[in-house]
Amino acid sequence: MQRFMNLIAGKRVPSASGKWMPSLDPFRNENWCEVPDSDEADVNAAVQAARTAFESPAWSAMTPTARGALLRRLGDLITENAQRLAELEVRDNGKLLNEMLIQLRAIPQWFHYYAGLADKVEGGVLPAYKPDHFVYTTWEPLGVVAAITAWNSPLLLLTWKLAPGLAAGNTFVIKPSEFASVSTLAFADLIAEAGFPDGVVNVVCGTGLAVGAPLVGHPDVAKIAFTGSDNAGRAINHAAADDFKNVTLELGGKSPNIVFEDADLDAAAAGVASGIFAAAGQTCIAGSRLLLQRSIYDSFIERVRALAESIKIGDPMDPDTQMGPLANTAHYGKVQTCIEDAEREGAVFALGNNPDAVPSGGLFVQPTIFRDVSNDSQLAQREIFGPVLAVIPFDDEDEALKLANQSKYGLGAGVWTQDMARVFRMTKGLQSGTVWVNTYRAVSHLAPFGGVKHSGIGRESGQEMIKSYMQCKTVWINNSKEAPGNPFVMRL
Ligand code: NAD
Repeated sequence: MQRFMNLIAGKRVPSASGKWMPSLDPFRNENWCEVPDSDEADVNAAVQAARTAFESPAWSAMTPTARGALLRRLGDLITENAQRLAELEVRDNGKLLNEMLIQLRAIPQWFHYYAGLADKVEGGVLPAYKPDHFVYTTWEPLGVVAAITAWNSPLLLLTWKLAPGLAAGNTFVIKPSEFASVSTLAFADLIAEAGFPDGVVNVVCGTGLAVGAPLVGHPDVAKIAFTGSDNAGRAINHAAADDFKNVTLELGGKSPNIVFEDADLDAAAAGVASGIFAAAGQTCIAGSRLLLQRSIYDSFIERVRALAESIKIGDPMDPDTQMGPLANTAHYGKVQTCIEDAEREGAVFALGNNPDAVPSGGLFVQPTIFRDVSNDSQLAQREIFGPVLAVIPFDDEDEALKLANQSKYGLGAGVWTQDMARVFRMTKGLQSGTVWVNTYRAVSHLAPFGGVKHSGIGRESGQEMIKSYMQCKTVWINNSKEAPGNPFVMRL
């Protein structure tokens, strides 16, 4: 079976223990390759390499303009290798080749954008009121960043961390998900090809406990940039607090798609269906709660049900397929349990529960719609991360807003209406990192992305986020010829 190796200090290496773990092809439901099953020894070697690289003149003395040039080259190399990298992602996580290709073709935009920003982060000379002091600020990189990613879009999630973090002058140890490591390992080849010095980017594969936890706890790691579940995010945040490490946490969601009776209902139905069934619901921003105005309740459910029923389920490599399998066996089991729990709680199927609706063999789940769901139920509150929609009725705008915000999460929200005044009221009232109006699942390198409440801390993408990989230093220079005054009073 094909084996892929870690990258530490510019060298391809197996785990120190010599252990390997399999990676599953969820469409065939069979293991297709192996990656290193690493542990703390590998983490220590990778952090040491990243720290050495951070301090080396080859990286620390490189001008921001030169770093930008490397990032631009890396973006170009990703474009050249998009097809190969997308195919590896599909093999590993079962998402559609169509979707992964779109991601891979968009990823260079992040590298090009932050390449341009690398030499535009400016400190300032401050108008201090003391005439004999010169005061200025500079922005410096943090040091070694640990980037820990989920399996659903490995390279996109990594890019959101790596592009601003490298532009800012940091070095990285990356831990991809144990369920989809291969595209990250293959991508790492392009780092050296682009001309980054050895050790600036390192990749260590393994589980959250064996690799993620020691990486988070390593004293030489300055920042943790994490995408994953709120449970793991909480553990990471606790561990990071011990050493006051900087964190960015991109966590889960239970996003509401809110459809009012005055919406363009064709567009809304398409947006709702793609919001939950695209990528088989395995996106953090899945619109998994449909809040539906009572006056259009039955007819709109019927529209979404008809769209969901027509989804072509099958081989993720086939360009005609619209929904592939779930990504791994453990996750498949979790989604099935959530559906069974909902049934046990008395939830009513508008679509689902038909084993003949999906191809045999792979880890497929039929698009599933539950109607008349109580917003208090487990079905409406727990992130399922699968193709399962909970439909909840509402009467008016106030009730819609209340239901939407009654969730521990706050990552994304969709509003479908033609009433512009309502748009302003809803976008202001929704507790959500992103609100989409008459659209859904739009993201860009220009637009900050992230969550409120249990959906995370911090933002990724956009101009300001390069500073989340930097720290500000203030310098005071006394240029007075006079002897200092009373040394026992503060200079305010
Ligand atoms: P997960 O939390 O199980 O794992 C994510 C990563 O964290 C993996 O690499 C895992 O090995 C590692 N990890 C787990 N426990 C750890 C620990 N204690 N210390 C350090 N590392 C640890 O999540 P998942 O199942 O891979 O991904 C699905 C989750 O990710 C969903 O909740 C989804 O909403 C979320 N997600 C969020 C975003 C976003 O941008 N907000 C994007 C994609 C996915």
